[in-house]
Amino acid sequence: MTDGYKRDDGRTPNMLRELKMNVGVLNNADGSAYVECGNNKIIVGVYGPRKLHSKKHSKIDGAVLRCKYNMAPFSVTERKRPGTDRRSTEISKLISEAITPAIFLEKYPRSSIDVSIEVLEADGGTRCLGIVATSLALADAEIPMRDLISACAVGKVDGEIVLDLSEAEDQKGEADMPVAMMPRTNEITLIQMDGHLTQNEFVEALDLAYSGCNYINKLQKETILKKYGGA
Ligand code: ADP
Repeated sequence: MTDGYKRDDGRTPNMLRELKMNVGVLNNADGSAYVECGNNKIIVGVYGPRKLHSKKHSKIDGAVLRCKYNMAPFSVTERKRPGTDRRSTEISKLISEAITPAIFLEKYPRSSIDVSIEVLEADGGTRCLGIVATSLALADAEIPMRDLISACAVGKVDGEIVLDLSEAEDQKGEADMPVAMMPRTNEITLIQMDGHLTQNEFVEALDLAYSGCNYINKLQKETILKKYGGA
């Protein structure tokens, strides 16, 4: 990392954008969370666990986690066509897969847990922030979990390894690597790579992702404790 490298928005390479988190923001959902990271704004609602009558869609040995990621038409600079597209289908699937290892799904056979992830404003890194918000909303719904899954992207911009790329950085960057993990066990539950990193850069980037996720995990836990008290 080069000393003194400043990013376009004034951050140093290992800085996240400003994070704000809140839980219990929706009255009609079983659990909910609202999270901001810089210009990203995401709200998540959880419904469930509830019994599924359809044998086809349920599992005898545990709950099915169904996540749906959606970007509002006004969430990006050019109006986005409403509805599901290939990108949102992919992100819905990977958010489910990143969160599943944390949940004791076996406690709820023949049930579903439905998660709606609504992106109100997007500025790069929404899949990671969606994972952070989903974990919080599931905790708010009192669904038992091994840990809160945390996530952030790392990448390479102007030859520098940086944390939490904005959309502008993502566009001009040489690599973007979203990472989700369970800090308690260091288990990685999602890793993707767009672009190219050398082996040394990959190790540096992964290290930075670990520290970003650990910081976010602390904030997630503080957010839950602030709402529900306890030690
Ligand atoms: P992520 O949001 O997880 O980084 P991408 O890398 O696919 O996912 O997208 C990067 C950013 O590009 C998004 O956060 C958003 O700001 C922007 N973006 C994504 N899809 C669209 C779209 N259909 N129209 C305009 N901007 C978009």
